[in-house]
Amino acid sequence: DRIAQVDGGDDGVHAFLHVNTDEALAVAAGVDKARANSEDLHPLAGVPIAVKDLIVTKGQPTTAGSKILEGWHSPYDATVIRRLRAAGMPILGKTNLDEFAMGSSTEHSAYGPTRNPWDLDRIPGGSGGGSAAAVAAFEAPLALGTDTGGSIRQPGAVTGTVGVKPTYGGVSRYGAIAMASSLDQIGPVSRTVLDSALLHEVIGGHDPNDSTSLTDPLGALVEAARLGNVEGMRIGVIKELQGEGYQAGVLTRFQESLELLRGAGAEIVEVSCPNFDYALGAYYLIMPSEASSNLAKYDGVRFGLRVVPDGAPTIERVMGATRAAGFGDEVKRRIILGTYALSAGYYDAYYGSAQKVRTLIQRDFEAAFKQADVLISPTAPTTAFKLGEKLNDPLAMYLNDVATIPANMAGVPGLSLPGGLADEDGLPVGIQLLAPAREDARLYRVGAVLE
Ligand code: GLN
Repeated sequence: DRIAQVDGGDDGVHAFLHVNTDEALAVAAGVDKARANSEDLHPLAGVPIAVKDLIVTKGQPTTAGSKILEGWHSPYDATVIRRLRAAGMPILGKTNLDEFAMGSSTEHSAYGPTRNPWDLDRIPGGSGGGSAAAVAAFEAPLALGTDTGGSIRQPGAVTGTVGVKPTYGGVSRYGAIAMASSLDQIGPVSRTVLDSALLHEVIGGHDPNDSTSLTDPLGALVEAARLGNVEGMRIGVIKELQGEGYQAGVLTRFQESLELLRGAGAEIVEVSCPNFDYALGAYYLIMPSEASSNLAKYDGVRFGLRVVPDGAPTIERVMGATRAAGFGDEVKRRIILGTYALSAGYYDAYYGSAQKVRTLIQRDFEAAFKQADVLISPTAPTTAFKLGEKLNDPLAMYLNDVATIPANMAGVPGLSLPGGLADEDGLPVGIQLLAPAREDARLYRVGAVLE
């Protein structure tokens, strides 16, 4: 009912691309029945969840926000979807995103933008704006997102929700349509830190279907969220992720968070990560390179759309016509960037250099985590901007990811949580916590204190 109330129409939130009403209600009814029979149920049984439309689901369409996959149905469920079903969680439907998760505003969706529930003229962040908006607008208590450069955390920040990018390999990517495979992670979106921990424990853990899946146990995430204690912990403020380029109201709320942590018994230290200055540049070489390769499979034969041009229907001409019609401008821009960066003669100069920068960023993290248990920064430099404001300026759009990208480059986990509203515009500010790889539990422990 809530989705019907707020999601549709010209000035609706438009978080959903597909609503899975009948199946969700049937699952909920099944859980009710099991509960009446006093069967053993998972704590999240019956709690509905929205899923970013980059994650494949049987029985529902999966579009990746692209015309090229319009009408396509996956023959299998992603591992995370299988785990949601096993826990008895009704899947409410699929949420809007920038096409193939490329963007920071959800305006690059081929199916129209999602609006920020706090101000319908503003963006809900991206690429997972649909999942964040669905949770912020009380259309769903929980959602799944994917985060390659910040697509869970930045939408979380600008919609006042909690979003978590787990350690790389901590949650199976099997069934997440690949954007940049070495950076992609699936993770929770919720209204509270504890809710994200509960969901993280459902979806996380080893999966033999993902060759990059960690075999280590996840850690006691829910327990950490319940504990919420920072006494004696060292929290490192990242010098490079504040100051110039950050909105005043964002920095004010950030300073308050530090005070709060200090008051709760944490020691606040400053750490320096000098190579973070190059993270954005390196990301926008590595990500398009991997994406150009991952997107080569949309050839007009295997999946979704097929456009047959007039004249001889050769493979090249069908492929060209299908990709010309099926991909939007941002996706084409990145395919061109990626194929260029990978081409002979340029590979070492661009892709090779970017990979070296990636190593330097990892070393910055290693050094910082010798001085601090958890790192902290604003999640995004500004609050939600206006729809259309950065649409024709790709660089301005990319700059929104300065604070979130380093975590993906190093594979470390990150959590964004609401830090209050900015004085100048009354919009949500996000606070980001970062922990060493495999130490996701620390994010929940500190996050629960800040919330
Ligand atoms: N906004 C970033 C980009 O456009 C991040 C995307 C993501 O995390 N999927 O690449």
